[in-house]
Amino acid sequence: MRKLIAAANWKMNGDVALVDAFAAQNWPQNERIETVFGLPATLLSTAQAQGLAQLAGQDVSAHESGAHTGEISAAMLKAAGCTYAIIGHSERRSDHGEDEALLIEKWQQLKAQGLAVIYCIGESLAAHDAGETAETLRAQLQPIIEAGLIDEQTVIAYEPVWAIGTGKAATPEYAQNAHAEIRQILAEKHARIAPSLRILYGGSVKADNASGLIAAQDIDGFLVGGASLDVRSFLGIIEAMT
Ligand code: PEP
Repeated sequence: MRKLIAAANWKMNGDVALVDAFAAQNWPQNERIETVFGLPATLLSTAQAQGLAQLAGQDVSAHESGAHTGEISAAMLKAAGCTYAIIGHSERRSDHGEDEALLIEKWQQLKAQGLAVIYCIGESLAAHDAGETAETLRAQLQPIIEAGLIDEQTVIAYEPVWAIGTGKAATPEYAQNAHAEIRQILAEKHARIAPSLRILYGGSVKADNASGLIAAQDIDGFLVGGASLDVRSFLGIIEAMT
């Protein structure tokens, strides 16, 4: 049975007081659910010192070290207590023009440090309206698969761009179809491990839609933006997963 993941993505939000509030909460780290906090890089060490686990970087440099002003390396994330890093978020893809070639380099850096990747993929509204969801997912996955980067640690986050921050979550049926498609694409090259890889759904997840989504066969947890910024609402999502 796949262990579920509840992953928070605070994006460019939060402060030490919010880390304190989250660290004071007793987060379920049980047999069934892993909790992961994707925090701004400046808050990771504070969160580590407070014992908030597990931690994820929201991005990583494609470089190992050196003259790359403003960048944060995989080794730095590891030293700050991260066991995961999120890459390929649609906001990185749209705001910074990140493509699969760059994401492969980032992934290689993370792999070299033993950090697990949460790889975000998902179709735009235009692709959705054109019925091109499956093609989009394949285009975002295939280069990663061909680069030999998928392993047992890999987590895929399916985040339809039209559902992120809009309050319009995908229905369980729609998300399940996309997740099944993703697992099928992974299985073409990785038949042995594809059934055990975790595929998260992200996009306007709240406590009141989480239970319907998590009931879908191929949904193994959530990547949560807005609702992860409040202890009670994030806890509500985790409770809906149990
Ligand atoms: C996200 O940005 O990863 C996300 C899922 O955001 P939200 O939950 O706010 O839609």
